[in-house]
Amino acid sequence: MSHDNEDLIDYDDENDVVTHGPGASAAATRAGDNGDKDKKNFSGIHSTGFRDFLLKPELLRAISDLGFEHPSEVQQECIPQAVLGMDVLCQAKSGHGKTAVFVLATLQQLEPVNGEVSVLVLCHTRELAFQIKNEYARFAKYLPDVRVATFYGGTPVTKDAELLRDKSKCPHIVVATPGRLNALTRDKVLDAKNVKHFVLDECDKMLEQLDMRRDVQEIFRTTPHHKQVMMFSATLAKEIRITCKKFMANPLEIFVDDETKLTLHGLQQYFVKLEEVAKNRKLNELLDTLEFNQVVIFVKSVARAIELDKLLVSCNFPSISIHSGLSQEERIARYSAFKAFEKRILVATDIFGRGIDVERVNIVVNYDAPPDADSYLHRVGRAGRFGTKGLAITFVAAEGDQQVMDSIQARFEVAMTELPENIDPASYMTS
Ligand code: ADP
Ligand code: MG
Repeated sequence: MSHDNEDLIDYDDENDVVTHGPGASAAATRAGDNGDKDKKNFSGIHSTGFRDFLLKPELLRAISDLGFEHPSEVQQECIPQAVLGMDVLCQAKSGHGKTAVFVLATLQQLEPVNGEVSVLVLCHTRELAFQIKNEYARFAKYLPDVRVATFYGGTPVTKDAELLRDKSKCPHIVVATPGRLNALTRDKVLDAKNVKHFVLDECDKMLEQLDMRRDVQEIFRTTPHHKQVMMFSATLAKEIRITCKKFMANPLEIFVDDETKLTLHGLQQYFVKLEEVAKNRKLNELLDTLEFNQVVIFVKSVARAIELDKLLVSCNFPSISIHSGLSQEERIARYSAFKAFEKRILVATDIFGRGIDVERVNIVVNYDAPPDADSYLHRVGRAGRFGTKGLAITFVAAEGDQQVMDSIQARFEVAMTELPENIDPASYMTS
């Protein structure tokens, strides 16, 4: 078998647009039937601190350096069980700290052995893999023996192989996209027989898309039977939960069955009805009048991302774009530049729609309406991270756009209104 094409395996943004029609979210579940009751007594009644999790002092020090004062609700619910090695299937709102759950749980349990990969974390885009690796680096600051690496497409496989072969460099924690990791395990470049923790971030995305699911399954099969499996997402339809649970044994299950609870309360949400041809003028006006730290503008294709970015740059806006049409290094470079506040405006396809955490983003504009309600929820979740304020504006132009907006309003019970002439910046800017 030849794997020469391996580098071509990427789950690109154009795909997303094709595979998700409006109504793809019909599988979404509605409020309240099961287990919610038993879970109530876990959450928020008494105020827990990170100290109560009995973490290694090195981790507590790092947490304190990061300025985290209190664990979020999802962290309170999951961390005590997760550090004991229990399987976890967890749905929780965007921006509420799901990453720290698996990063802390795995670092707490990890006993690094030279030449052995103990933790595998899989996610759907390279930027997210890069971001998660950085999260590991931040929390492992006082654990100097722990090594983390990312593996994803668009980079030479030989480099990955070199790193894995050298016992003194071999990572204990691997964060990867499924295509590349599958190639590495299949070709026995990465030996997965010492893996003790297997994590899927954005798990619904990873298991709904068939090419990714196949890669995930093949990687999973190369790992030992006995291990901890943890999966996370803000969206987790009933159907996909069944698939997730096939990878797990008796997991701790945290779901948000009442979908209205997925609404981000700090986020103001509006729509603008207009003709396709009026979009540029409206966007220009918004960028001129609204106050923002950083904005993400979502479009539906690579070509539109390139064009719109060009237009904004020609109007002297500090804009940059990110999409799958770029080289690997360029993608990470642009992600890093935006995260470092070197650019204020990012034009992106849906590859940036999930998981990406940029603290200063306080406005999301759906220049092209999202293909479905799940996608909407993830996109607007890029603003208003960790309970901060934000603003989401969706352009409604094509006929299908209105249907998507209706399904969003019905599912999440958000009252979205037409964008008013004037909005008080205090309503969407955290002072
Ligand atoms: P999610 O994966 O749930 O969407 P992230 O894990 O990306 O959310 O976290 C969102 C942001 O919140 C990150 O910038 C993270 O550093 C921050 N964060 C996470 N937990 C805490 C906490 N307990 N206190 C303060 N900030 C936190
Ligand atoms: Mg996340």
